[in-house]
Amino acid sequence: MIIQEPDTKGYYGPYGGAYIPEMLHRNVEELQANYLEIINDNGFQEDFINLLHNYVGRPTPLFPAKNLSSRFKTKIYLKREDLCHTGAHKLNNVVGQILLAKRLKKKHIIAETGAGQHGVATATVCALMGLRCTVFMGSKDIQRQQPNVLRMKMLGAEVIAATSGNQTLKDAINEAIRYWINHSDETHYVIGSTIGPHPYPDMVARFQSVISSEIRKQLLEKEGRETPDYVVACVGGGSNAAGAFYHFISDSQVKLIGVEAAGEGVGSSNTAATIAIGTEGIIHGCRTLLMQTPDGQTKEAHSISAGLDYPGIGPLHAYLHQSQRASYYAITDEEALNAAFDLALSEGIIPALESAHALALLPKIAFRPHDIVVVNLSGRGDKDLAIYQEYFSHDNHDK
Ligand SMILES: *Cc1c(COP(=O)(O)O)cnc(C)c1O
Repeated sequence: MIIQEPDTKGYYGPYGGAYIPEMLHRNVEELQANYLEIINDNGFQEDFINLLHNYVGRPTPLFPAKNLSSRFKTKIYLKREDLCHTGAHKLNNVVGQILLAKRLKKKHIIAETGAGQHGVATATVCALMGLRCTVFMGSKDIQRQQPNVLRMKMLGAEVIAATSGNQTLKDAINEAIRYWINHSDETHYVIGSTIGPHPYPDMVARFQSVISSEIRKQLLEKEGRETPDYVVACVGGGSNAAGAFYHFISDSQVKLIGVEAAGEGVGSSNTAATIAIGTEGIIHGCRTLLMQTPDGQTKEAHSISAGLDYPGIGPLHAYLHQSQRASYYAITDEEALNAAFDLALSEGIIPALESAHALALLPKIAFRPHDIVVVNLSGRGDKDLAIYQEYFSHDNHDK
């Protein structure tokens, strides 16, 4: 049987668990001991649902994309997470975790961020709830995501640059963990994806699962059945895909497809295709697949999209891959860029570069005319305009 929840120690089959330094045991054990009881409490659910509706802007539409559908000769729906407040699915998880942190009486929120989306979401909810907020971000990402850095500062957050390694997401996570160790009592660390030690992967998947529970209701209304034939989502750490897959995992007829970033190609040294080339190991507190050298050094990931630029993958996805419940494809930078322009021109929606990876899968599968295909449009493309503009001018040059 395929599971969507880990066992009590946080394992999905061989993947997951909590591999953390001694100094973090107290924080992580506090979460492990309390998260399910808090999340399942009626008062918590009421507050969570209330904020999802009135603040995040849920439910997000399930949009029948007619022009894409006729081009690919199948029925394509876009789940519009790009319309969430702050521009991506990330706010679902942040609202949940900060409500939880408040119930644990935490006063200071810390977070790591790659594209800046998770940092903005965290700074946003901290402003709303009156909590102190510190965001760690790789200095390379700070350069390529300036508008999000400005947003975080305007929202009152302190942004701290991670200057080690590749200066991207992985390094920001290391810095955040280091800070958490030294300030464990008053601080909650909001992890932005289905990664990290147990209970984070499960906690984040539960908060994001609102995506698939809405899809079921919306499909029932529009198609008279709750389940699609395909759900397609991009995979960085795996949270938007986990949310889009969650309530379909036990419906074995629903094909689940995760799309990771091939960067310049799966066989190149500039890739983030963890499932394609990763091997088992431990990264940021859990056992999963990661890109590493034969002697166990984590490799640097590369993707044109900062949100997919991560050398690991959440343990739920490592498990769904190993059990063959979901399939995973890798899409190159170039393919994603083309898919982004395609969506802009055919449906009038500018997607995030991350989400464009999911869209780029469409031409690769032989869908049947009566198939219902749901693509999770995880975020909007405003933050990526500089990259789009650069590509646009190159493209015109070549012609
Ligand atoms: C952060 C981000 C992602 C990747 O993170 P997941 O946890 O894999 O969902 C994907 N899309 C957008 C728009 C993002 O901001």
